[in-house]
Amino acid sequence: MTLEKMDAVEVFAAGEKGRGLRATKEMIAGEVVFAEPSFAAVVFDSLSQQVCHSCFRRQANLHRCAQCKFAHYCNRTCQRAAWEEHKQECAAIKNYGKVPNENIRLTARTLWRMQKDGGVVSDGQLTTLDLLEDHLSDMSPEDLKEVKMNVHNFLEFWPRGSRQVGVEYISHIFGVINCNGFTLSDQRGLQAVGVGLFPNLCLVNHDCWPNCTVILNHGNQTSVNSLFHTHSRIELRALGKISEGEELTVSYVDFLNVSKDRRELLKQHYFFECLCKHCTEGIKDDLMTAVRETDGKKPSPELVKEVTDFSLHSLEKMEQARTEGNYNEVVRLCRECLEKQEPVLADTHLCLLRVLSTASEVLSYMQFFQEAAGCARRMVEGYTQLYHHHNAQLGMATMRAGVTHWHAGLIEIGHTMICKAYAILMITHGPYHPITKDLEAMRMQTEMELRLFKQNEYVYHSMREAALHNKDMGTVPEPLQKEIKEMLKSE
Ligand SMILES: [Zn+2]
Ligand SMILES: [Zn+2]
Ligand SMILES: [Zn+2]
Repeated sequence: MTLEKMDAVEVFAAGEKGRGLRATKEMIAGEVVFAEPSFAAVVFDSLSQQVCHSCFRRQANLHRCAQCKFAHYCNRTCQRAAWEEHKQECAAIKNYGKVPNENIRLTARTLWRMQKDGGVVSDGQLTTLDLLEDHLSDMSPEDLKEVKMNVHNFLEFWPRGSRQVGVEYISHIFGVINCNGFTLSDQRGLQAVGVGLFPNLCLVNHDCWPNCTVILNHGNQTSVNSLFHTHSRIELRALGKISEGEELTVSYVDFLNVSKDRRELLKQHYFFECLCKHCTEGIKDDLMTAVRETDGKKPSPELVKEVTDFSLHSLEKMEQARTEGNYNEVVRLCRECLEKQEPVLADTHLCLLRVLSTASEVLSYMQFFQEAAGCARRMVEGYTQLYHHHNAQLGMATMRAGVTHWHAGLIEIGHTMICKAYAILMITHGPYHPITKDLEAMRMQTEMELRLFKQNEYVYHSMREAALHNKDMGTVPEPLQKEIKEMLKSE
């Protein structure tokens, strides 16, 4: 298995966007365009004890590196596989007496890697970090100040024994990380756990309606061969048919923002003006801001503004209450807000969708499954009208909605939704991803329960009742409850 086969792509001059990647052959939905291991990657400061520093899985009881007492690993295989990347960092942390922040750690790992392997570490690498944009000249004074601060601390951390590097070059690497660093998520895709540099991925330009998606594959933990066991890598996957010569694109931001807001986000974080078709033509902006018509009459603009402002304010309060763990208050705020939105905003309005999303998660956490299912269903219907039909977020939301319906005893809709989610994730994540595997298990379980339901509704419901009182019977699987809890904690 070659992990870095790059024969389906080539670099080309993509006009104003600079360099880009395009397909050299036709591809179909779900095809892996290329896979790429990280050039360097680190776990976030805040999660350094909960996430494996080698494969980026989040799990309990990680082993600690006896030397630096900072790095954590699933097991010996992960630790051994990571040693090459960690050994200089390990010694440097011991010497320095403390752990520098994630950006400094990533810069250091990047420079050690370059000093050891050179700027090009494999035949498949199509660019070097030297050639990537750092956008230092576009940064705001505050951001530049932070870069300077990081460079200063970096120099204190960087061991005397390592080859010395100039301030200018270190700043360049910080700049590259700032606009090209790829956020790594855990194996369930629920939480951002770290950041890494993937040179080939940096060549893929943005489009708000892209033809590819990126996911992190965490390797195969059942494999004892450390190459496959811990070989985490990103995969660029085609979302639909791609023609030979077509530019490959991914989205750097969530599509669920109106074009004006997406453009602002992109400008702020990535320093370019988005000229994609969806932005220039404002496609779907109308749906995202649509109002509810009753008997052919629209609410007044004043009322729409009032409700929108109220919603934004409520969403802030929900976030606050959620961080404080006050879920009763979140539910109260959701219900109050939905009541105001109901007569005014259409089902695809972003404010309404955001409240439905919060409501469905918190309600299902509190085991109000019926009400949660209602919210989740409306949310997925809205998302379906807005997102590309092979969007990973749509797939994840559909999965959560399916599970909620299942828990609510609405087995028919639950099963249908789980099947839909499975079909999306087969494209966006592929058949070997842990989430897809979970979905496959749920699909089989709900299929079995659905059969039972159709044979005898009464028996189904009494079994479900029993299962709710006695978790051993398995209708509400324990692991899923845990998933939902973790999902809530992580957001
Ligand atoms: Zn691991
Ligand atoms: Zn160590
Ligand atoms: Zn755009």
